[in-house]
Amino acid sequence: MPELPEVETTRRGLLPALEGRMITNVIKRRDKIRIMIPEDFEQRVKGASVNRIARRAKYLQIFLDSGDVIICHLGMSGKFIIKDRDSEPFEKHDHVIFETDHGKAIIYNDPRRFGLMTICSEILLEDHVLFKDMAAEPLGNEFNGNYLASKLANRKTPIKTALLDQHVVVGLGNIYVCEALNLAKISPLRKASDLLDPEIEKLVRIIRDVLLQAIDAGGSSLKDFAGADGNLGYFQHQFVAYGKEGERCHNEGCNGQIERINQSGRSTFYCPDCQK
Ligand SMILES: [Zn+2]
Repeated sequence: MPELPEVETTRRGLLPALEGRMITNVIKRRDKIRIMIPEDFEQRVKGASVNRIARRAKYLQIFLDSGDVIICHLGMSGKFIIKDRDSEPFEKHDHVIFETDHGKAIIYNDPRRFGLMTICSEILLEDHVLFKDMAAEPLGNEFNGNYLASKLANRKTPIKTALLDQHVVVGLGNIYVCEALNLAKISPLRKASDLLDPEIEKLVRIIRDVLLQAIDAGGSSLKDFAGADGNLGYFQHQFVAYGKEGERCHNEGCNGQIERINQSGRSTFYCPDCQK
């Protein structure tokens, strides 16, 4: 499942193929992914050029010179593939294809179809139902110790659950929350409102670090293989806690083992020895 670093890597991978390009044709091979693709989607996109591509949480926002913005979420299994136009027949899960004026086909492929593709006028974007109540970006300036402290102040839920709440911070998924809490040596079971200010400061710094490292790793993978088959897929990152049940904790001086527990229906990986 793509998390923030994968979405950011996808954004960077799409830039050379889309930025400054005109979308000469749109092929919609199904009407619905997770929700309906708007009926006038092709009409609004065709003939427009791409000004820039942004990311908000795990959504891609493709800004067109027509004043519209294509909004895309990769869901559980969505990805983009960049090919030469007409190079091969489409595959079963190729749902939306953008053809550009330099002869490329940018294909949205999504086997499990939890992804989303829609369009919105740029002036309405901030008020769009997907974005209007969103909390701060973990890599943005707004996300700092004071901000996170204010969001955690009255939360009685465990810190693990609070960090997954999109009203606290956006775009953090199960993987990077487990990683950050392990590196910060904070137990995922602690009540969110009980965290001390220095712990919150440390957590903010570590959350940024793990995300930036994963984005860097994605960037290197992108260089390695996007040229080969144009596939902006997911990358195998190295994790310290996530999925490491039974392995030794990586934190210096700790001899503990990573355990897996269930929190709100999802797996949490943590080290009971050093995460207090
Ligand atoms: Zn440990």
